[in-house]
Amino acid sequence: MYDVIIIGSGAAGLTAALSAQQKDTKVLVISKTYPTHSQTVQAQGGINAVLYEDDDSVDIHTEDTYKASRGLANKDNINFMCKNAKDTINWLDSIGVPFTRNNSNQIAQRKFGGTKKLRTCYSSDYTGLKIVHTLYDQCIKENINFLNEHMLLELIIENDTCKGAIIFDIQEGTIKEILSKSTIIASGGYAGIYSNHTTNSFSNTADGLNCTLKAGAILSNMEFVQFHPTALENSNILVSESARGEGGFLLDENKQRFIDELKPRDEVARAIYKRINQDQKVYLDLRHLGLDKINETMPQEKRLALEFSNVKIEEELLPINPAAHYSMGGIKTDIDSKTNIKSLYACGEVAQASIHGANRLGGNSLLEIVTLGKIAGTNASKNNIKSSNNINKETASFTKQKNFINEVYSYTNEINFYYEKEKLGKLFFNNVGVFRNDENLTLALIDVLAMKQKIKQMGIQDKSRIYNKNLIEFIEFINMIDIAEIIIKTAIQRKESRGAHYRDDYPFELNAYQKNSFAKILNNELQIDFEDVI
Ligand SMILES: Cc1cc2nc3c(=O)[nH]c(=O)nc-3n(C[C@H](O)[C@H](O)[C@H](O)COP(=O)(O)OP(=O)(O)OC[C@H]3O[C@@H](n4cnc5c(N)ncnc54)[C@H](O)[C@@H]3O)c2cc1C
Repeated sequence: MYDVIIIGSGAAGLTAALSAQQKDTKVLVISKTYPTHSQTVQAQGGINAVLYEDDDSVDIHTEDTYKASRGLANKDNINFMCKNAKDTINWLDSIGVPFTRNNSNQIAQRKFGGTKKLRTCYSSDYTGLKIVHTLYDQCIKENINFLNEHMLLELIIENDTCKGAIIFDIQEGTIKEILSKSTIIASGGYAGIYSNHTTNSFSNTADGLNCTLKAGAILSNMEFVQFHPTALENSNILVSESARGEGGFLLDENKQRFIDELKPRDEVARAIYKRINQDQKVYLDLRHLGLDKINETMPQEKRLALEFSNVKIEEELLPINPAAHYSMGGIKTDIDSKTNIKSLYACGEVAQASIHGANRLGGNSLLEIVTLGKIAGTNASKNNIKSSNNINKETASFTKQKNFINEVYSYTNEINFYYEKEKLGKLFFNNVGVFRNDENLTLALIDVLAMKQKIKQMGIQDKSRIYNKNLIEFIEFINMIDIAEIIIKTAIQRKESRGAHYRDDYPFELNAYQKNSFAKILNNELQIDFEDVI
């Protein structure tokens, strides 16, 4: 029996682990990948905080964030995050994150979209990677236990309380039951559903969301998926907003600028997508910044552009397109990271803590995951003290998952689910993308429901039991399909345009929809509705 288990080892999970770990507290981090492979390591641009109040303030940071949310966030929650931002940065600095510093040896800051202030702290363009490596070092120092290459299959729920998790040991091919007094879900976002049209890593397949939904939790605002304006054409590898923050231009086919590059992401993505949809090319122009500045502030972007697009950004224009990037929706939590299920917490991109609303500002995610990761860890470890209701038996969930895995081995392989996964990504990008409408969304829903019907014909080809990646990817695909249905259904029901959710058949924001959508399972039925923002 553990005191706290954490599903996910990105910056949210690792921060939660560090703050849950107290003297005599037994903490375990369970993760499908290794911490150094989490999505967070790809975060390049930076993390927001008001550090020096001469020109900026917590109130302005709060207002910028609220404005971007288009009224779908709780201002107090935003303010909490913004107020704690300086402490968050100072804490990261104190444990060894090598933030880039200015000539006065202060932590340097750069400008991101949706704000007029220089507020984004960074570590060259390796910010997420440096944060994860530093947090992981600290976890090792604190002797925190890790189970890498272990996949969450189901949460154990008894008497409306989470009592642990059923996990799959990917290396051995066995199922394990891990009992815990508190469980934290930190399994990342769901923009990976847009396969081949996303900046996300392969592991972002919405598993945590699906398991938590099935356990009785509420998912909120799932229709809000942010498209990043500048991913490399074809490979969809991200070129961080910092490239525009440092002065990069967007040019159309006539080599003309067509939008203020530092407008919020939804507006910039729409302006770019419109041109690409008319078979035009769009470019990021960094040439005028000069090699020295490029080497200093964006060495990773320079390397990625050369490796994946064969473009020297100091000399040539870089072709880009928008790609699905970040999920604003997620497991509904309060500012204490609590879900509606007792002893179950969620933090990081998987959570919807009423902060980003309809549109997230660049640099606010790393801030949220570390700040609320801390809160989740602290509260989960406090929960131990109160909780005494242990269980020590093989649960019904364990038996169910053992049967499920055995059943999967008996599915036929008439349809190749890898092709279906690619089809899903394309369908989502075209029909549930930057621009949406009732007709396209309905067509997407029909296709997704048809895929769901045929799951048992899409079984695995590789029937081995040890380290079977084919099996893992199949389970991930099931999770993607289940969550895809919810994204489309909520998008159909939100008959307005707001932030990242833009419908060309309802091109305006409507007061009646200044509400959060939610999805939950009640009596085995999926329910979708709207509720007030609180
Ligand atoms: C390319 C890119 C660049 C970005 N740049 C920035 C930036 O500059 N600034 C910013 O603020 N934000 C940025 N973001 C957003 C930010 O990086 C993410 O929101 C954030 O890293 C999410 O962290 P997380 O800890 O919640 O999840 P992740 O880092 O995604 O970690 C999720 C963890 O959960 C595990 N997991 C998933 N499913 C299971 C399962 N079934 N069982 C067990 N484990 C599971 C994964 O293996 C992983 O360890 C960027 C995003 C991308 C894609």
